[in-house]
Amino acid sequence: MKKPTDSPVLRDIVLVGGGHSHVGVLRRFGMHPVPGVRLTVICRDTHTPYSGMLPGYIAGHYTYDDVHIDLCRLAGFASARFYRDEAVGLDRAARKVLCRGRPPVPYDQLSINIGSTPMLANVAGASEHAIPVKPIHAFNERWLALLGRVVGHPGAMSIAVVGAGAGGVELTLAMQYRLQNELRAAGRDPAGLQFHLLDSGEAILPTHNSAVRSAFEAVLRDRGVVLHRNAKVDSVAAGQLHTADGKALHADEIVWVTRASGAPWLRATGLALDESGFIRVTDTLQTVTDPDVFAAGDIACMVSQPREKAGVFAVRQGPPLAENLRRAVERHALHPYRAQRHWLALISTGDKYAVASRGGLHFQGAWVWRWKDWIDRRFMRRFSEFPPMQDSMQPAASPVRLEGEEAAQALSAIAMRCGGCGAKVGATVLSRALGGLHPIDRPDVLIGLHAPDDAAVVRVLPGKAMVHTVDFFRAFIDDPYVFGKVAANHALGDIFAMGAEAQSATAIVTVPPGLESKVEDVLTQMMSGAIEVLNAAGCTLVGGHTGEGAELAMGFAVNGLIDESMVGVLRKGGMRPGDVLILTKPIGTGTLFAAHAKLEARGRWIDAALDSMCQSNRAGAQVLLAHGATACTDLTGFGLLGHLVEMTRPSGVDAELSLSALPVLEGAEETAAAGILSSLQPANVRLRRALRDQGAWVDDPRYPLIFDPQTAGGLLASVPAERAEACVEALKTAGYARAAAIGRILPQGDALEPVVLAR
Ligand SMILES: Cc1cc2nc3c(=O)[nH]c(=O)nc-3n(C[C@H](O)[C@H](O)[C@H](O)COP(=O)(O)OP(=O)(O)OC[C@H]3O[C@@H](n4cnc5c(N)ncnc54)[C@H](O)[C@@H]3O)c2cc1C
Repeated sequence: MKKPTDSPVLRDIVLVGGGHSHVGVLRRFGMHPVPGVRLTVICRDTHTPYSGMLPGYIAGHYTYDDVHIDLCRLAGFASARFYRDEAVGLDRAARKVLCRGRPPVPYDQLSINIGSTPMLANVAGASEHAIPVKPIHAFNERWLALLGRVVGHPGAMSIAVVGAGAGGVELTLAMQYRLQNELRAAGRDPAGLQFHLLDSGEAILPTHNSAVRSAFEAVLRDRGVVLHRNAKVDSVAAGQLHTADGKALHADEIVWVTRASGAPWLRATGLALDESGFIRVTDTLQTVTDPDVFAAGDIACMVSQPREKAGVFAVRQGPPLAENLRRAVERHALHPYRAQRHWLALISTGDKYAVASRGGLHFQGAWVWRWKDWIDRRFMRRFSEFPPMQDSMQPAASPVRLEGEEAAQALSAIAMRCGGCGAKVGATVLSRALGGLHPIDRPDVLIGLHAPDDAAVVRVLPGKAMVHTVDFFRAFIDDPYVFGKVAANHALGDIFAMGAEAQSATAIVTVPPGLESKVEDVLTQMMSGAIEVLNAAGCTLVGGHTGEGAELAMGFAVNGLIDESMVGVLRKGGMRPGDVLILTKPIGTGTLFAAHAKLEARGRWIDAALDSMCQSNRAGAQVLLAHGATACTDLTGFGLLGHLVEMTRPSGVDAELSLSALPVLEGAEETAAAGILSSLQPANVRLRRALRDQGAWVDDPRYPLIFDPQTAGGLLASVPAERAEACVEALKTAGYARAAAIGRILPQGDALEPVVLAR
């Protein structure tokens, strides 16, 4: 469970990239939190691969989850904010990370651990025709696609791997082992699969000793891999490689495992880079350019201790990086880090056999693989099985030293927390946070945020009626930008469920007190997310109120417009016997976010749930209207059954709900089966009395989900039976991939219970 803390945020450490060093930083801060210091990790992937086990995954010995660290859970353990996004630049003057999909993220201390990027641009045709192994996080998708192509390819096939360092050799052997097994399983002859390994140098594994090299030369020979030495690939075409000595080699697939470089966006940051684009850092892992910016792992080039690019160094840099980040916020002297000269590499041959290499040492065997497997699994457990957290219930004094105005603000934030009073957020903070936001212009908004006044004034044209709704809830995720999106989407749901168009909204927000700059950041992120959603819905933000409170929370009063002739067309009470019940989005958000709070949900389940919660119901309502929907509501806190009963009762009908047809978010069945349910669930379960023969269904794994409270859920509607199939198809075309017919409407029977369950 997330650790409660009474300490306001005084310093922000932002981690860009979820590489091997940053996972160590997160774990360390999770075990030893520093009061007043908040971590934010920005990573484009929720599941970050552990390079040491990647060849074993490719060979088929490990599952995806065995070899990936779940950053979302790890960040939860560290009480860090996890932003699923990509850094695309830095504004070092303003101390902000520029992201692809959200407002800039401010930092006090920044650390970059983003791995490396393939160097394909200097070989003609390589970008178009070769599969780069870097960035390593994106290799999985490319590998699965290659696997599918090889298995689906009739007849003989050849694969060329370019680059015979440890990564290239290990990858070649792992791929060969796996692909041959897959072909055998498909009843094909694995001998038809030929592997070529090319390197521009004379020696394979050039950074390892000669005994290790000889061992791998023998393995490659025995396994029939054709080794091309001194073969500098200088151009690539479809199915063909050309080397500098004028030779051509046919290859159906080309995999690129050569030297990598730094990400191109770093060039514009002003940070000093080496000739390959890696960030130059000192022994304290601070960049040589900017002491508030750190770098570690492959992306860092230690100027006084150059080392090979290897995951082992990235891992080793985690603890000293964590220590120095902490010391930097506390304004203590930083400690230099000494990288090892010799390191143990356990390089596998794909078939559960490995070779050990350390300086001049070499040994090999199946036992080396088992040893490596034990080390790797133990390492991964550190990031999935978390130690008990330190008790941070007692407010601890922050070791962060502040001066002047900041110190006064911090004192007042602490006083505010203790008093728990709900004062207004200062006008300057508010105007700065809202200054960069641009609600859309609407001609029917006479007085709105473009010329703020005591209240907004909107015009309602003749023939139109106004639809009002309000929603408010506290943040259930640590990402204010995404929370803003979900909150706005949730509030708009009622308007669309009535068949109306959204016109204007006023916001109500509470933010925990803190330094003005931190409050401003949270407000900016949250309001940006909300305004994006409101703007996309054609709804303009016309005003709001922001106050300080114990928890981050947000809500909206939304006004919609509807043709008077359409009033009542989409109500809850219009269901007719014979209609088909349609649900536009999957259910399960309540149990998933309850599990997320307990660190029991997988990151990708949360990603998918958030994507679903951010999907607007606007297009869905239009499709339902176009297919003659007779009744509609949006799914929120009462859960599927609660909302269905709200519809059957005024409609004077019964309904049959098919459990197997319900669209369910990935992971929701697992978390519900584990007994992890929303705190609202018990209240919803009281409605089981609305179920006929309820006792017969309680053991069905989907039974708890009909009570699961939804946030920004889909639309539940009844549609004439003859149009239902077309309606579901149209919903899918409109982007509701999980839309489904989930039951039918029955004439009201004699039984007291209106809902019948079916498989
Ligand atoms: C096949 C193969 C096998 C290998 N085996 C070993 C081995 O056994 N032992 C070993 O020591 N090394 C091994 N290596 C080398 C190893 O992969 C790298 O040295 C290691 O991954 C570098 O770790 P890192 O922490 O620097 O970055 P990475 O592991 O590459 O992690 C970078 C992270 O940052 C994220 N990211 C990148 N750019 C951005 C951005 N702009 N914004 C936000 N997030 C971003 C990525 O999504 C990723 O999560 C192997 C390499 C290969 C190719």
